[in-house]
Amino acid sequence: MISEKAKNQIQVVQGDITKLDCDGIVNAANRSLLGGGGVDGAIHRAAGPELLAECRTLHGCRTGEAKITKGYRLRARYIIHTVGPIYSGTAEDAVQLADCYLNSLNLAKEHDIHGIAFPAISTGVYGYPLEDATEIAVKTVAQWLEDHADYAMQVIFCCFDARTERGYQARL
Ligand code: ADP
Repeated sequence: MISEKAKNQIQVVQGDITKLDCDGIVNAANRSLLGGGGVDGAIHRAAGPELLAECRTLHGCRTGEAKITKGYRLRARYIIHTVGPIYSGTAEDAVQLADCYLNSLNLAKEHDIHGIAFPAISTGVYGYPLEDATEIAVKTVAQWLEDHADYAMQVIFCCFDARTERGYQARL
């Protein structure tokens, strides 16, 4: 069960994450951190070439971990790049996907970010079944909010399509 307080800190919106006006947005990146398709490509296009230049200095990112850059031409001040698992159907997938949310939230807090938007990590090209991925996303974020009740954090689940939005709404 998600507490009412945590529920009030979570919002589900449908739209393009690159257009959001919040402190930080999360990128579903790949291990190279040098750009790719899907939401990663959209973020790099919108942020501009300075983003790629900073990403080159980061030397990649392991699955489940997260690294931070500036937001450049985005309205968001920061971009948190995390690498979701490529779905394989093993128990490790769920652990790594939960780690993406946890490590992103921890990094956000370290940088005094109070508003963060997540795309549906791993549910595109990486093939994570939407229902399972939304369950992990909502549970993990809600638990983090409860564990950090003294820290003001607003979380947006930014869904590119209506099906994903319905998936999150059903979970909440
Ligand atoms: P992954 O490789 O982690 O699966 P994808 O980018 O392929 O990442 O897909 C992750 C999710 O991001 C999918 O639900 C996809 O529809 C969504 N997505 C793609 N472009 C955007 C965008 N501009 N804003 C928000 N979500 C997006």
